[in-house]
Amino acid sequence: MARVVKKFGGTSVADLDRIRAIATKVKAAVDAGDQVVVVVSAMSGVTNKLVGYVQDASPLYDLREYDAVVAAGEQVTAGLTAIVLQEMGVDARSWLGWQLPVHTTDAHGLARIEDIDTELLEERLNQGQVAVIAGFQGIGPDNRITTLGRGGSDTTAVAFAAALKADRCDIYTDVDGVYTTDPRIVSQARKLDYITYEEMLEMASLGAKVLQTRSVELAMRYRVPLQVLSSFSDEPGTMVVDEEDIVEQAEISGIAYSSDEAKITIEHVPDRPGVSAAIFGPLADANINVDMIVQNVGPEGDSTDVTFTVPRIDMDRSVKVIKGLEDELGYRAVKFDDHVVKVSVIGVGMRSHAGIASKMFATLADKGINIQVISTSEIKVSVLIADEYTELAVRALHTAYKLDAA
Ligand code: ASP
Ligand code: MG
Repeated sequence: MARVVKKFGGTSVADLDRIRAIATKVKAAVDAGDQVVVVVSAMSGVTNKLVGYVQDASPLYDLREYDAVVAAGEQVTAGLTAIVLQEMGVDARSWLGWQLPVHTTDAHGLARIEDIDTELLEERLNQGQVAVIAGFQGIGPDNRITTLGRGGSDTTAVAFAAALKADRCDIYTDVDGVYTTDPRIVSQARKLDYITYEEMLEMASLGAKVLQTRSVELAMRYRVPLQVLSSFSDEPGTMVVDEEDIVEQAEISGIAYSSDEAKITIEHVPDRPGVSAAIFGPLADANINVDMIVQNVGPEGDSTDVTFTVPRIDMDRSVKVIKGLEDELGYRAVKFDDHVVKVSVIGVGMRSHAGIASKMFATLADKGINIQVISTSEIKVSVLIADEYTELAVRALHTAYKLDAA
């Protein structure tokens, strides 16, 4: 007997037929003797629609009421799923965040789970009842409903798996797993059987939007074995696990890209102690998250060009901050460019294989692609390039690191 949490995303509960299909999977697990906790999202499109109503009602909406509205989608699917399971002869009961309760912070619209009371659930699970939990929601210290940020049902599922010490958390979606890269641009992309938490975090935050980033952080912290799989098939998916649980580690696990960044260059800044602090301090004060940074000393040795990236939505604000520093810094010009993409190769194998970065640079050079900025961490190398080369770069790298499907 295993204890499993099964989370079904919006496309997996899109209508009653889909709910019947996933209920069949739940029933199969129950019949096999498993204790099953189901976490559901809203039907696909419903949350967007609810968010739209809120925005139309008032541009300056109250976040507490936003939560009251947008949490409604999951209430519907939790109830319907319980009814369909009962109809199939499975003992099932729905639960909303406030009923259990799922205690969260008071950050309405983007709350964090702080604590889950599992006593009641334990009792029901031990009686053989399936718990169907509305994902994405909890209750704040103000005693009002909260939501966990878009995609938050993943986090609900992992949090319950951790709290209930489940053997596994299955995240059902409409893709059959985590791929080496985006299959929409590389037809040779392969489904991974395994990926580590760390790699998944990089993949998730670098634009491969399979799992909410927070859910992966939580899974890593509590060592919850995660599986990403399709509710439209019966194939096993991708297991997200600890590094030690992967026997054969490839040098690179995946290639991600993100168009969410913009590049800013400050030309000819006097090269003296304190200039970096004078640039990045005010950006931080403006709550702008700087990602990649390069600094180059000019030929005369007395000035430097500073190039960095910021979230694309913050580009105009960043330029404004820098322009405000003109007198203090005495630079020559500020340039900005949002036709850039960040391409990253990711893999824990990098820790033990040499030459990963140089292979990336050589591959891009071979295609005549200019690298504008580079940044690295222990398990990834990222480069910023012109966005017109996104597909070319990702495909070439996918081949170079031998990730192409056989
Ligand atoms: N329904 C919510 C959303 O669309 C939560 C989720 O699906 O994970 O963001
Ligand atoms: Mg999702």
